[in-house]
Amino acid sequence: MTWALFVTSLPSIVLGHLFGGLLLMLGMAKAPRYRGGVLRVTWRAWVADRWVYSTTVGHCMALHPRRGSLTEWHEGVHVFQYEDLCLLGAIIGGLCCIVSWRLGLILWATSGAPWLLPNFVSGWIRFGDPYMGSEHERSAYAQTFRESM
Ligand SMILES: [Zn+2]
Repeated sequence: MTWALFVTSLPSIVLGHLFGGLLLMLGMAKAPRYRGGVLRVTWRAWVADRWVYSTTVGHCMALHPRRGSLTEWHEGVHVFQYEDLCLLGAIIGGLCCIVSWRLGLILWATSGAPWLLPNFVSGWIRFGDPYMGSEHERSAYAQTFRESM
């Protein structure tokens, strides 16, 4: 991650560390480590038995212990998506600062993962499946499939 993306991605980095810290404090995850500027934790067995997925919130991946590197690749695509949205949030928020610095700050601070939430609604409307129909998941699965070839 470059310095420019690090600065604009601060909302996602903060959100990810809150998420990862909460998982660790609640005893739901273990083995925190960093790679590529992203906090990675592993679900504990009692969670992994009930939740068979890996989940990325902000710059934190909660990885399933029985999933391979392709899943980690897929989750990495979501981190890139969050970074893209944070950059967009910084640009739009910066422009809004002309009118109100508070509005600009709120727009930037809420960018990243929260800005993907409407994709679940449009995915549900388009394909009847909010998860697999969302554009960010379709993109991440397509990129993961391409990586596997
Ligand atoms: Zn995904």
